[in-house]
Formats: sequence, C-alpha cells, structure tokens
Amino acid sequence: MSSRVGPLMLQMEIGLTSVSNATAPMRKSARLELDGMRRAFGAFNALNGIDLAIEPGEFVALLGPSGCGKSTALNCIAGLLGLTGGEIRLGGTRIDQLEPERRGFGMVFQSYALFPHMSVRKNVGFGLAMQGIKGSEADQRIRDALALVRLESQADKLPGQLSGGQQQRVAIARAIVIKPPIVLMDEPLSNLDAKLRLEMRAEIRGIHDQIGSTTIYVTHDQDEALSLADRIVVMSQGHIEQIGSPQDLYQRPVNVEVADFMGFRTRVKGRITRVDNDEAEIEVAGARLVGTMRSPLKVGDAAVLSVRPEDLVASSSEGIAATVGSMEYRGRAFFGMARAADGSELYFRADEPLPRGASTRLQPVAGRALVFAGAVG
Ligand code: ATP
Repeated sequence: MSSRVGPLMLQMEIGLTSVSNATAPMRKSARLELDGMRRAFGAFNALNGIDLAIEPGEFVALLGPSGCGKSTALNCIAGLLGLTGGEIRLGGTRIDQLEPERRGFGMVFQSYALFPHMSVRKNVGFGLAMQGIKGSEADQRIRDALALVRLESQADKLPGQLSGGQQQRVAIARAIVIKPPIVLMDEPLSNLDAKLRLEMRAEIRGIHDQIGSTTIYVTHDQDEALSLADRIVVMSQGHIEQIGSPQDLYQRPVNVEVADFMGFRTRVKGRITRVDNDEAEIEVAGARLVGTMRSPLKVGDAAVLSVRPEDLVASSSEGIAATVGSMEYRGRAFFGMARAADGSELYFRADEPLPRGASTRLQPVAGRALVFAGAVG
C-alpha cells in the first residue's frame, strides 16, 4: 500500500467529510469500467492505461509484485488519487472527477485506522453520522454490521481492547455499514498472523457473499487471490498482464512473468527440439524435457520451461542433472534447490532428504511443465 496518500486516505476512510442528503453518495451496485486509466507521478507512469470491466457483485483481486501499481489503481478508483488519463465509469456514468465521498465506496486498509478513543459502536457509526443517518436507523445498521463481522458483544469496547483480527473486523464493519456499491480492500490481512489470515479470508468472502457489493481486493499473495476472488487481475509495472479465473491463472498463465507469480518457480532456458500438437520437447541444460506449449513455437526456437517445485521431482535416472544446494522439510515432502551445469536454479520436491552437494536428476511430472517463447535473463 502506498503511504503517500495517508492524510487524504484517512479522511476518506473515517468519513471526515460531511455529506449532506442532497449530495448523498451513489448506492447502486453497477458495472465499474476502467477505460485507459492512467496515473503518473511526475515523469513516472505508475499506471499505463488500465482497461477493466467489473460486474456488480464480483470479487476481483488485483495481484502483483510490490510497486506494480495495485494500490495506485485502488486509490484512483476510490478517488484518493486523480487520474492523469482515461476514465472511470460506474453504471455508465463517469465518476473519475467526483470527490471520494461522492463515490461512496467502502474502504478497508492494512492499517485499521480506527479512532482509539471511540467505542467500536461509535467507530462503525461514524460514517453514518457524517451522512446524516441518525437515531434508530443508525442503531439498527450498526447492529447489523457488527453482527455480520461477529462483534456484537464487543460494541462498547475501545479498539485498543481488541485483537488485531477484531480491529480489522471493526474496519470492515465501518466500510460496509454505509452500504457501499463497491468495497475496496488494500492488503487488509497483512498485519495479521498466518492462522488469523486464513480465518479472516473465509470471513471476508462470506461477508462479500452476504452483502452483494462488488469487492476489489489488492494483494501480493497469490494464495489469498486464488482462494478469494472470482477473477484475478495480474499486474506488472503499471499494466495488466492477465485477467482470468483463479483456475485459468493457476493452470494457464499467459507468459513467464505470470507463471512465475503463480508459483512456477523454476524457469530454464533452452531450444525446442520437437513439437507435437500442444506439446513441445525442449533441450535444457543437457536434458530433453516435455511441456505444454503456452506460445506458438517451432523446432529451433529459443524457449523457457517453467515448472512448480511440487511438479519437479528428484529421480535417479531421468531429467536435468543438477547438484543439490539446499533442502528443507515441509510436512509431506522435502523441497530443495539444485543447480544445473548451466547455472540454472531448479526448485524441486523429493521424498527423501538429499545432502548438499549430491548429484541428482530432476524430472517434471507429466503434463505439469509449461513452455513459453523466448529467453529469460
Ligand atoms: P505495494 O504492494 O508495495 O504496496 P503496489 O503494487 O501497491 O506496491 P503502488 O503503491 O501502487 O504499488 O506504487 C506503484 C509505483 O508508483 C511505485 O513505483 C511507487 O513508488 C510509485 N508511487 C506510488 N505513489 C507515489 C507518489 N505519491 N509519488 C511518486 N511515486 C509514487
């Protein structure tokens, strides 16, 4: 998450800008369209023309490495950052020139940003008060939002008396109590420990399903994106590399970069020696391996074979000859790194531990390696 929009972000997050009924934010959940969305910081283009349409009720994850522009994209959608090009439309109406509070989106950030001196109930109700919603309607909506995040019994506590997970649930309640058409979440689980992250993941998806808003969720964690989203948008250097369902991205990444991000950790360079329908044989580091072609290739072309650690297996007789560099036990199997004669790093699985410096051969599981065009550095 970019910290540079801090004060403005906080202002919106906690709804400090009073909104009269006459200028009440939009509520209708509608198709969100990003059309050539650009954002530059001086000469640096953080977003290079993002085109994306998100349907009402969809859960979309923006996934990519640090600095690829995920938070910038989210902040542009929220209105915390202006565009330097392109348009944002909600239900066909242009919204990119509206102030954040006029867009009326709910926001949840990595830092919960709760008012420490206000009770949970008051924190959740703050946005409603700013919208002029008071009395029994406000009370009911606060109760409903707290019930949704299972914090009814904590309503009178201060944030400091709650655990990290509970505080993030307050932040979620605060975001959804205003019934936003779109909920924007920027790495909301990053401050939580591994076990709580898993629990909160399920809760976030459950809340999304119950309230029916569109959710746009920024993360750099592929597991989180795979388990939560209906569609994943993989970004890199300010542009979209691939959009698809979790299954699509996991099984059919379009290029080496997306494959790398989807866990195809080993990538070795070689030349195509045989092509047979969608399968290619590639000579890499002195061995001939077979993978599924993800780009059109012919014999003699330079190519890259990508494979996940769990699908590259230590075998006594077949595959790439390599020297074991390190090995660790991860429950059901041993995982290690070995180096081929050409220096390539190979991440593999083995049933038994292999000592450092041991010679081994590494063979991809049939049908699990992918072959892409081009050489990688
Ligand atoms: P992370 O996961 O680390 O938060 P990100 O994908 O969300 O990364 P952004 O925060 O969107 O990345 O930043 C994208 C790029 O834009 C980065 O190179 C960042 O340094 C730059 N950037 C972001 N905000 C500003 C700003 N206010 N001024 C200058 N450069 C900025």
